Amino acid sequence: MNAKNLRAKVLVVGWDGVRDDVLREIRPSAIGSIADNGHWWSTTQPDVDVAPTKTAVGWSTMLSGVWPQKHKVLSNEGEYHLFHRTPDMLTRAFCADPSIKTYGAASALIFGSEYGPGPLLGAGVRTMTWFDRRTFPQGFADSDKLVAEDAERRLGTEDHDFSFVYLGETDKAAHDHGVGAEYEAAIGRQDERLARMVRAIESRDTFGEESWLVMLTTDHGHLDGGGHGGGSWQERHTYVVAGFLGEAPAVTWAETAENIDIAPTAWAHLGVTPDARWPCQGTTLLNR
Ligand SMILES: [Zn+2]
Repeated sequence: MNAKNLRAKVLVVGWDGVRDDVLREIRPSAIGSIADNGHWWSTTQPDVDVAPTKTAVGWSTMLSGVWPQKHKVLSNEGEYHLFHRTPDMLTRAFCADPSIKTYGAASALIFGSEYGPGPLLGAGVRTMTWFDRRTFPQGFADSDKLVAEDAERRLGTEDHDFSFVYLGETDKAAHDHGVGAEYEAAIGRQDERLARMVRAIESRDTFGEESWLVMLTTDHGHLDGGGHGGGSWQERHTYVVAGFLGEAPAVTWAETAENIDIAPTAWAHLGVTPDARWPCQGTTLLNR
């Protein structure tokens, strides 16, 4: 609860492999609108010897609020790691306060299967929608649609407090075509999916009694020709966008951000103090 006694809600939407400079250049309307009611930070992933620009590494860092030196997910493979000691931000919120309703939706293997370091979305994600993108002819281009439809329906009609929705088509487009028209078109489709989720939230019967914080981010950038895993600025060039839907509360935003700051920002809005045994290296971006 906050000053107006509104019920706090958080939605985090992840688009895989979206480079900040490309996103800023095209500035699609849904993410641009959220930034207009909040803030848009450029973020840079650490050097490659600290945080390889791999998908499982980036999402493990964002979800846990700690750098790879703590969670020890260092690749997309199933090596020994400590993610169970720094679990995902939804699970930690649920463990701190079981009245918080958590929802995750994704179709990448690491979130909902035992592939690599997965499943990264843990037992505290009480409503979990997961599709296996390998079972669709077009992979993410097909499965993202189902993820977004599920999110639109659940965010509009169910009562989740803390949600994470992952969409992967952007990364595939960059791998297949490099940074160019196809990549920008995929970003545009992700933005349309975000717009539908926002409309669903704003049409909720209880929207006027709720305070919705929406955050957007990615796991890594891409080389101009497509590809990531190395330490070039293009591969490390990421973003965090945060803003409120509807009437924004009186807040000031931090001047700089890192992807590890998303988890503590969400917890701050939800009024959650996670268990101190689980370290968090980020700090909230939101100051009231
Ligand atoms: Zn990725």
